[in-house]
Amino acid sequence: MKVKIPKYHIWTIGCQMNKAESARLGGLFERVGYQATDSVDGADVIVLNSCVVRQHAEDRVVNKLANLKAVKRARPEVKLAVTGCIVDSDTEHLKGRFPHVDYFFKAGDLPPWLANPATLPLPSQPGVSVYVPIIQGCNNFCTYCIVPYRRGREHSRPIEEITCEVKELVRRGVKEVILLGQNVDSYGHDLQDKPDLADLLTELNKTKGLARIRFLTSHPKDMSRKLIETIGGLDKVCEQVSLPVQAGDDGILKLMKRGYTVEHYRRLVTLMREKIPGLALSTDVIVGFPTETVEQFQHTYDLLAELRCDTVHVAAYSPRAGTFAASNLVDDVPAAEKVRRQKLIEGLQEKISTEINAGLIGQIVEVLVDGRKAGKWQGRTRTDKLVFYSSKDECLGRLVKIKIEKTGPWSLQGKPIKEEP
Ligand code: SAM
Ligand code: SF4
Repeated sequence: MKVKIPKYHIWTIGCQMNKAESARLGGLFERVGYQATDSVDGADVIVLNSCVVRQHAEDRVVNKLANLKAVKRARPEVKLAVTGCIVDSDTEHLKGRFPHVDYFFKAGDLPPWLANPATLPLPSQPGVSVYVPIIQGCNNFCTYCIVPYRRGREHSRPIEEITCEVKELVRRGVKEVILLGQNVDSYGHDLQDKPDLADLLTELNKTKGLARIRFLTSHPKDMSRKLIETIGGLDKVCEQVSLPVQAGDDGILKLMKRGYTVEHYRRLVTLMREKIPGLALSTDVIVGFPTETVEQFQHTYDLLAELRCDTVHVAAYSPRAGTFAASNLVDDVPAAEKVRRQKLIEGLQEKISTEINAGLIGQIVEVLVDGRKAGKWQGRTRTDKLVFYSSKDECLGRLVKIKIEKTGPWSLQGKPIKEEP
């Protein structure tokens, strides 16, 4: 008799933390005998890993849930679970809104019907690069942000647990780890010996067989000189920092409760560029925050023009029920004006990224190959730039030296160079 293997399907949107948690949830399903499937049709269990950081993401989750009603009607035995940031402590309210969902469980938790191991397992088939959560939750309560309400307070994983996990990942072929947290710079303050991110990076840098270490997201109010010097001094730690500024105007930063000034941010960038040669800087910006005037927006634009980041993620302010800003500040910048500001920053950044990348023509960069696309190998430089090249060799997981020949704002192209034996 043929035994039917149960199938699971996980649908994920949102940040890297959601992606990391979905990959680990997949590992757990496989540990108890399930097989992954790409479609909802053949799945016995469907998990939606949601994001509600902005209204647009929430709308997509709600649409997806509405579509799944038909699946549940046709096959009532299918188990449907929802996790991620849509799940708050009031699951009764969610059950009323989405009665066809069998289970709701909080972001980072485990579905109730699976065994409950102490920690989430590793991804089942880790790729070349793997996300490793090091700190959960957030203690900051920026006035626009829903995350602390949904993911709770900060909780760091012990250094030994992380180093052990990274060794195991490397044993399974992983070459790069990306350490994750809402604010990785506050890693360790809740642990017994109060290690910090610099200590963790120093430990992980000793891992034999590991090629690269990245980490995100940093917070300007918590980024220390010690951390900056450590990044600059460790060979496996990539010269890339993700440091959201959110606004380039002190009045708006104060209303956002970010805890730093524009001048502080500027000084941090100067220090990082001095101590971390070749640094690639990525930032996030919100436009159209309540009361943001055209002049205040211009301060943000001017700061970005001055600092010339490698990457800027720009979002239009979206009020999130329950946050301080949604309850106390009027969302007074019209939607069309938010779009105009967003486009201005996107246009500026496209120009800056084009110029920065053009400076790489003729240079030889080290690329960690993580896949193939349209007949070409693709990988990332230490500065996280996407590179495509052709080769008949099997390159997956290898560090390859590439001479850059063509560049654009979002990616580079080049040729592998023959290395001396
Ligand atoms: N912890 C990180 C930090 O301190 O910036 C980022 C976490 S947040 C989930 C990811 C990005 O979403 C933020 O950098 C911010 O730009 C954006 N974001 C968060 N809440 C938002 C809101 N209400 N409206 C628009 N963008 C928002
Ligand atoms: Fe949200 Fe601010 Fe925490 Fe980032 S630091 S997750 S923006 S509250």
